[in-house]
Amino acid sequence: MSKHIALPEIFSQIPRHQILYPNPSPIHSLPTLTPRSNKYRKLEYIVPDILSATPLHHSHENHPNTNTNTPAGPATILVTEGAIQSNHTVQVAALARKLGLKALVLLSRGTGGGLRASQDPETFLRTGNVQINRLLGAEVRILDENDPLASDAFPILEDLRAQGERPYWIPGGASIHPYGGLGYARAAFEIAEQETEMELGGTGRFDFIFVACGSGSSVGGLIAGFRLLEARREEADRRVRPRRSVIGVLNSPTRPRSYHEERVLRFAQRASALIGLDSQRYISADDVKLDDRFVGSAYGVLDVETKEAAEQMARMEAVVLDPVYTAKVARGMLQWIQEEEIRQFARLHSLDKVNLLFIHTGGQAALGAYADVN
Ligand SMILES: *Cc1c(COP(=O)(O)O)cnc(C)c1O
Repeated sequence: MSKHIALPEIFSQIPRHQILYPNPSPIHSLPTLTPRSNKYRKLEYIVPDILSATPLHHSHENHPNTNTNTPAGPATILVTEGAIQSNHTVQVAALARKLGLKALVLLSRGTGGGLRASQDPETFLRTGNVQINRLLGAEVRILDENDPLASDAFPILEDLRAQGERPYWIPGGASIHPYGGLGYARAAFEIAEQETEMELGGTGRFDFIFVACGSGSSVGGLIAGFRLLEARREEADRRVRPRRSVIGVLNSPTRPRSYHEERVLRFAQRASALIGLDSQRYISADDVKLDDRFVGSAYGVLDVETKEAAEQMARMEAVVLDPVYTAKVARGMLQWIQEEEIRQFARLHSLDKVNLLFIHTGGQAALGAYADVN
């Protein structure tokens, strides 16, 4: 039974191909969740372009105008990239199966530090998400650290074209794709719809929403969705209520926080323009709140504190987190609860209660490659 999510008119007209279950991701008051990884949400809005007779956004981001010699027609193969234990690549491989397309998955040894830090690199290279990619029938190509294809896969796309394929390139995490943020803008509406049924107390909303920030369009999309909701609400109520804060917990020290802030702002503005919100007016750098205190030594490396957070959530709440993203988010949220900002928010708005939401973005399939989490 499909539950209808009421979206504003402009947003509701954007084509979407449903991959997730038909119901909104359920909110629990500390949950035993059935997580699905978050990239399906993003891909739902990309599928209509993949299936289009004239796909618009299939090019590599470094080579936007080089597809003039591609014969027109829907994609025949999805090509994407990621770290060795990337969740995103599995979602793309699974999607390819569902759409009857081929998949080529490029996994880079040099992305993050998971492989280097692993006590058993041979196993890391063939278990978890690597295994699932292969099981799904994707062609898996493992790229060496200094392979130029790891930073620019364009020659692979050219080779495929020469073989008569019509490749559709999905950048890492699908965030640079123009529609990458829409799935999480929609998630904001799923959350808001449940807020009204939950009798939360306080503001009646989730005031602080914690989510992982990797490639950035999950956070960007959520910001766009919430600002659209709040803008409509303010027009209806004619009063301003405190806005929700989306807290993006970073999981990689590779780039500075400012790099991610700029990207998230760009993704939020791009999504908001698509869903019918005046991004100049409603979205600014103040909306982007990223916490870089829990990145650890490298992307994909499980530090002791994060491992403990994962074990604590599993034992106390039977919530199974993933080692790369959500375990760091749980750690971040537990830290925020002890700090001042949330209390200040309560005082400022005279609230006896502040509502927090932890978004479980999935990813547990990588756990098998991190066998020392137990
Ligand atoms: C990719 C991913 C994220 C981060 O999402 P971005 O939009 O790339 O920031 C969070 N959790 C899981 C499980 C992921 O695979």
